[in-house]
This record gives sequence, C-alpha cells and structure tokens, in this order.
Amino acid sequence: MSELPAALADLPATPRMPAVFVGHGNPMYAIEDSQYGRAWRALGESLPAPRAILVVSAHWMTRGATMVHIGAKPKTIHDFAGFPRELFSQQYPAPGASDVAQATIELVKRSHLEPDERWGLDHGAWSVLLHMFPKADVPVFQLSLDLGKSPAEHFELGKELKALRERGVLVIGSGNLVHNLMAMNPGAPPYDWAVDFDARLTKMIEERDFRAVAETAPRLASARYAHPTPEHFLPALYPLAIADPKDEVRFFNASFDLASLSMRSFVLS
Ligand code: ZN
Repeated sequence: MSELPAALADLPATPRMPAVFVGHGNPMYAIEDSQYGRAWRALGESLPAPRAILVVSAHWMTRGATMVHIGAKPKTIHDFAGFPRELFSQQYPAPGASDVAQATIELVKRSHLEPDERWGLDHGAWSVLLHMFPKADVPVFQLSLDLGKSPAEHFELGKELKALRERGVLVIGSGNLVHNLMAMNPGAPPYDWAVDFDARLTKMIEERDFRAVAETAPRLASARYAHPTPEHFLPALYPLAIADPKDEVRFFNASFDLASLSMRSFVLS
C-alpha cells in the first residue's frame, strides 16, 4: 500500500467496497419501469455508501490510450438515436470525482492513463446510476476502453485498480455479457450461441477462473456471435480483475432480452 498516490493514501481506508458488473441493455430502461431497473435500485440500496464511483462503460471507446475523465461536472451524454424525447431530456447531475480520478491515473503504472475533460457520463453509466443512486449525490468518473488493447491487457490494467476498493470507490463495469444488436429478435427465445456464451462465462465466474474470462472466453466458438464487437464484453473484466479471494459472487438480472442480449449482472463482495 506504500505505493499509493498521495491523493488516495490521504483518503481514510474503508471496508472493501463491492465490485459490480451491470448488463445495461436498452437505454429505455433508464426511464421505463422494468425488472432490470428495479434490481439496480435494490442493489444501490444494499451497497455501502461509496465515496466515489468509477464506471467503465461499453460506450466510451478510445484507441491507443486509456482516458480518465477528471471533470468536476460531468455532462450527461445522450449517445443514442431514435429514442423518445423524454430519454433525451434525462440528466444525471452527479458531481465529478476529479481528485480520485487524478489519483487513479497515478495509481496505474504499467499502462499510460491520460486525463480527459471532454467526456462526461454516457448512457452506459447514467442509465444505470439513475436507478442505483437516484439522488445523484455520489461523485462519478469514467475510464475509457482502449480498443487497441486485448482482453488480457484490459484484465491486467483492471488489476491495478484494486486499491480503489479499499478507499471507498465503487467500481462498476457496464456492458452486456452477450450483445449482438444485429440479431435482436423481440419475443423470440435466446439463440443457442447466446445461451452457450452466457453459461460458459457464468461457469468461469462461479469457478473463480477470472483469467479465463479474459483469455479463453474470447476464443470460444460462440464468442463471435455473442460479441461481434468487443466493447460490451470488456467492461466485465474490470470488476473481475479487482476481485478479492474473500469475495463471494452473486448474480442478478440473469435473463435474456430480445434473444441476443444477456442482462446477467454480478456483484463481488
Ligand atoms: Zn450498451
């Protein structure tokens, strides 16, 4: 712990915060009543109060650098099209977490993290946080997904964030364990490849073989259908990377939406 950046070392240690992965799915779950939103709300109520929240969202993709948003007032980004006006009018006015974000940049030694002041909160973050922390009073910051990194490299980067858990920072990965928008089929049962990929990931996580999620899962035959592109898969690696041997895994929202999205989420605590 002696290598902690001063800004983190100065914060009083806290009991280890849980680490969370949320399958966020359709942006409309931000405002529609749904089983998913109700589960996010219940989760938020069950968690110890965080000092700050770090979200690794599928919707902030960069290439060649990992960015950390350090703004004091992160804007609500409506990064979607074709949805009702009501969704575009949603705001999530949580304060930024500039100090913790700066400390996070210093904390990671083996990857180069860069400060960012242009992003804010994309819908992978705010559509879930609206339910988990409806008062929007906990400081939030995001870390981008560098698409130039392999899943194993994301896992290694994630491991360096572990100290945040001991300083009251709630790390949330927000994506989907299965995500194929081209194959969406309302009312249909989930595809075989969706069920397969979701089940194999679940087994790896239950068996605590978190490295396999990063290294083996992307090579499964079902992976190319479950994730034609990797951005909704990669956020799951961050909470897994900071797992503690003492953590228990709890799954929730374990169901499929539109036949090709897994909403399965998990908490390590
Ligand atoms: Zn998404």
